[in-house]
Amino acid sequence: MPVNTRPSIIQSVIPIADLRQAGSLPIPAHVPSTDATALRDQRGRQLRDLRISVTDRCNFRCTYCMPKEVFDNNYQYLPHAEVLSFEEITRVARIAVGQGVRKIRLTGGEPLMRRGIEDLVAMLAVIPGIDLTLTTNGSALKAKAATLKAAGLNRLTVSLDSLDDKTFRAMNDVDFPVAKVLEAIDAANAAGFEQIKINMVVKRGVNDHHIVDMARFFKPQAGQIGNIVRFIEFMDVGSTNGWNMDDVIPSREVVNRIHAVMPCQPANPNHIGEVAKRWRYLDGAGEFGVISSVTEAFCGTCTRARLSTDGSLYTCLFAQRGYDLKSLLRSGEEDAVIANAIAGIWQSRQDNYSEVRTAETARERKVEMSFIGG
Ligand code: SAM
Ligand code: SF4
Ligand code: SF4
Repeated sequence: MPVNTRPSIIQSVIPIADLRQAGSLPIPAHVPSTDATALRDQRGRQLRDLRISVTDRCNFRCTYCMPKEVFDNNYQYLPHAEVLSFEEITRVARIAVGQGVRKIRLTGGEPLMRRGIEDLVAMLAVIPGIDLTLTTNGSALKAKAATLKAAGLNRLTVSLDSLDDKTFRAMNDVDFPVAKVLEAIDAANAAGFEQIKINMVVKRGVNDHHIVDMARFFKPQAGQIGNIVRFIEFMDVGSTNGWNMDDVIPSREVVNRIHAVMPCQPANPNHIGEVAKRWRYLDGAGEFGVISSVTEAFCGTCTRARLSTDGSLYTCLFAQRGYDLKSLLRSGEEDAVIANAIAGIWQSRQDNYSEVRTAETARERKVEMSFIGG
């Protein structure tokens, strides 16, 4: 199996469309509802999750996310003044919680590259009623796991695309070794993070021959609580990753391959709107998940909004434009104005990109995942 995707990526990279300058959408007026418990979008979906991109920078160059050819030394990251401060992020988070948000995920880019991230965690952790979680590539996690736990982070997701060192180094494209990510996962478990989610983006011909190894490695012994691998279908996020349907391994195939070796059955979702479909091993020890955003769209239950590094709110991962909250934050508006803006934005939401994806939509100019928050 080939491990290096370089030739196909070079041939298929679409020149970067810098949608950060594309202009924001006008903020729709909020229509007050008599049902105070429910802010709903045009399809009846509630606002429950907020993903916050705390930096557009990353020390990896995963070929499917920030290909080196585009995110090179000349790439213009956001200037410091455009990046939301911890105070601004916390303010938006508090207000969003008032509008129904119950889960906050810190992401990026690589969130552990944002200096003082543990301080932000501590500021968010005291907001009542939220589940606070963070997604990381694991490269700086070993040193920070205990501090993040002490700061109040509830849960962790660590990305790891292969256990095979050669494949992993080629996919992160900065020659980062598997062993260090595994050490970081151990350190995080030791610091008290349980059932860490391990995200593996599966790309045909690149790492799909490691699916079963990955499932087996993270399957716990009977009676133990393990970490949980989630196999993610390669998506057409952004405009630079050269996505092609032929590169997608449908989740059904992932399940079949694992089932052939370690029999499994579907398990009930933990909550409505859960992104991953759960599969439990028939021997009673452990589970894994599949995230099928390409072959089995879950837009119907999508309760997620995203706050970009520069303070725009996006209502879909595949959006082309967002709503500028930063201007409101920095023009001295009161919380009620920002709350109304979030409510108006959510009420007007119609997004269903994954239900209508075609080869043509995949080529549309979309905002990069590192900026909007994965
Ligand atoms: N840097 C952190 C990391 O890699 O965990 C957080 C940000 S990253 C954008 C969040 C998640 O998105 C990661 O698990 C990554 O594997 C996933 N991801 C990035 N590009 C993707 C793509 N094209 N298709 C599917 N998942 C992708
Ligand atoms: Fe960085 Fe995460 Fe994107 Fe990889 S997936 S390039 S680690 S932001
Ligand atoms: Fe949600 Fe957009 Fe993904 Fe559909 S495509 S599940 S609306 S983020």
